[in-house]
Amino acid sequence: MLKQVINQSGLIVRGIFDDFKQLLSPPLCIGCDGNLANNDPVFCESCLESLKSKCPGIHPVCPFCGGYDFDNKSCRSCGRSSKIRLYYWGRYEDDVMGYILKFKFQGVLELGVRLTDEALNRFADPLRKNNYDFVIPVPLHGSRQRRREYNQSEIIARRVAKAIRAEYLPDSIFRVRSTRQQAKIDSEAKRWENVKNAFRLSGERYIEFTARRVLIVDDIVTTGATVYEVSRPIREQKPEMVDIFSLAYAG
Ligand SMILES: [Zn+2]
Ligand SMILES: [Zn+2]
Repeated sequence: MLKQVINQSGLIVRGIFDDFKQLLSPPLCIGCDGNLANNDPVFCESCLESLKSKCPGIHPVCPFCGGYDFDNKSCRSCGRSSKIRLYYWGRYEDDVMGYILKFKFQGVLELGVRLTDEALNRFADPLRKNNYDFVIPVPLHGSRQRRREYNQSEIIARRVAKAIRAEYLPDSIFRVRSTRQQAKIDSEAKRWENVKNAFRLSGERYIEFTARRVLIVDDIVTTGATVYEVSRPIREQKPEMVDIFSLAYAG
């Protein structure tokens, strides 16, 4: 009995000691546990350099094939409409993939904020030039958001909207049914089928999109099927422009 009490109090003391140690020790780089770069809350200098080298230009691509070659009507590589353009920050591979997975599934929200700010260092100006009226995050279905407790696209979209001075509209579109996670579906045709007509305009917060400029925000774009379907009810109202911004492109 006495031994048990001592053991328990030992655990408590050790717990307090660990908390204290964490308070005293400075936070470390999320990529390599090294010392943080000056004024950077998340990365050391070399992880930051590596990240920057992986994230290419600022020009929009076709969200369905990643091609750069399109005229006003269609993409010359895949033939789909070129009305929707994708601005993305990094390819979904190596460290970019690792960081996004940590942000998305392990709840490291400050990492999502930091990645978004890094992306905005490059994209705020070109996006601002397009004069978007609204920034809309890809909504999760209610049940999935309750399980995860946050929507990663909302975290990104809120910061993008602020940086480009557009109105942030989180509740204007909703998912009418729960869909399977796109990443878990292997064929492209099934991914399109999975999200078809899955989104509607919200009756509660109805926004008129006619002749307006809209930027839809997602964390990762793969086939472009989800963002295409999110944009469907908006496009039915004949907006002037609908584009996509994502942290990563996996197509
Ligand atoms: Zn590092
Ligand atoms: Zn294309």
